Amino acid sequence: MFTNIFDTYNWHEVKQSILAKTGEDVLAALHKEKRSLEDFKALLSPAAIPFLEQMAQMSHLRTQKRFGKTIQMYVPLYLSNECQNICTYCAFSLDNKIKRRTLSDAEILQEVKVIKDMGFDHILLVTGEAMHTVGVSYLRNAIRLVKPFFSHISMEVQPLDQDDYAQLVEEGLNTVLVYQETYFKENYKKYHPKGKKSNFNYRLETPDRLGKAGIHKIGLGTLIGLEDWRTDCFFTALHLRYLEKQYWQTKYSVSFPRLRPIDKESTGTAGKKSFETYMNDRELVQLICAWRLFSEELEIAISTREREVFRDNAVKLGVTSMSAASKTNPGGYVVAPESLEQFEISDDRPVDVITGMIRRQGYEPVWKDWDRSFS
Ligand code: SF4
Repeated sequence: MFTNIFDTYNWHEVKQSILAKTGEDVLAALHKEKRSLEDFKALLSPAAIPFLEQMAQMSHLRTQKRFGKTIQMYVPLYLSNECQNICTYCAFSLDNKIKRRTLSDAEILQEVKVIKDMGFDHILLVTGEAMHTVGVSYLRNAIRLVKPFFSHISMEVQPLDQDDYAQLVEEGLNTVLVYQETYFKENYKKYHPKGKKSNFNYRLETPDRLGKAGIHKIGLGTLIGLEDWRTDCFFTALHLRYLEKQYWQTKYSVSFPRLRPIDKESTGTAGKKSFETYMNDRELVQLICAWRLFSEELEIAISTREREVFRDNAVKLGVTSMSAASKTNPGGYVVAPESLEQFEISDDRPVDVITGMIRRQGYEPVWKDWDRSFS
């Protein structure tokens, strides 16, 4: 289990070693073909900022070599805002007195119709963490309902046991995203004071359970804005390297959402800051390039949390998938457009405007990426 490796590392020491990296360490990392975790630290470090242009060019070429000039399109479908956890940065937190809603079968199909009309073939099912309303049987049913309409189904819901994942894979689930939010165990509980999510180790071992259940793809990541992003990203890379060795038949993606403002009814304070406070755009460019130079195979996603201009520029940097026209509330597309969003999005352009932007840059928006076949 990853916890055995994780426990041998100390957050503060890792942070110090990243900050101590020099321009020479960065240059040495840039000249390698295969980069180690120490090289990744150098590419993440403040010492790498003067090399940004070079990193961007290398990342661009490396991405194009592996993925061609393509961007995979996906869209989230929020099924429920029920949640038994308190997360200080989220509008769906249990202590937030909002109207709770879980979509019925008919409502899911109504939302699916609108999403299909927009052209999507890859859907990301999202719920809060509430086992009594959106437990395994609800998720199985939801997958069964949407399966005939989509060639790729991803899910971002509460961490589950291995057997539960195996059932969902059997049903047709392809990808699970599970972000650790922060790898800083000492402070993890500060952001997740109540509910199952406050169990740091259970969350940390989720990708292990997914790998054992034979999932096609696992999405990793941390929430940028909780703790030092450089250190958090190092731990994500440590996690990735472990998983790639252990579950080598699984594919991996990474995402690094910057915290977004949430509705004022919510109790959180962290979410009210501008995201420039935690990581500026140059640093986000650095992070995308560092990831690409660390791993050629890795899929890198960028959501509508980010601003239009940034997303437009990210197409050539190393990103491989993008959401568009996203709604972050259950029923947001047609059933209940006024319900509370999980967080505010930044890029609300319609799908055709985003695909037009991608095409103008010489890239092709990809709706269907792969097919399950006999093996
Ligand atoms: S982040 Fe997820 S688990 Fe936490 S309150 Fe929001 S929906 Fe619930």
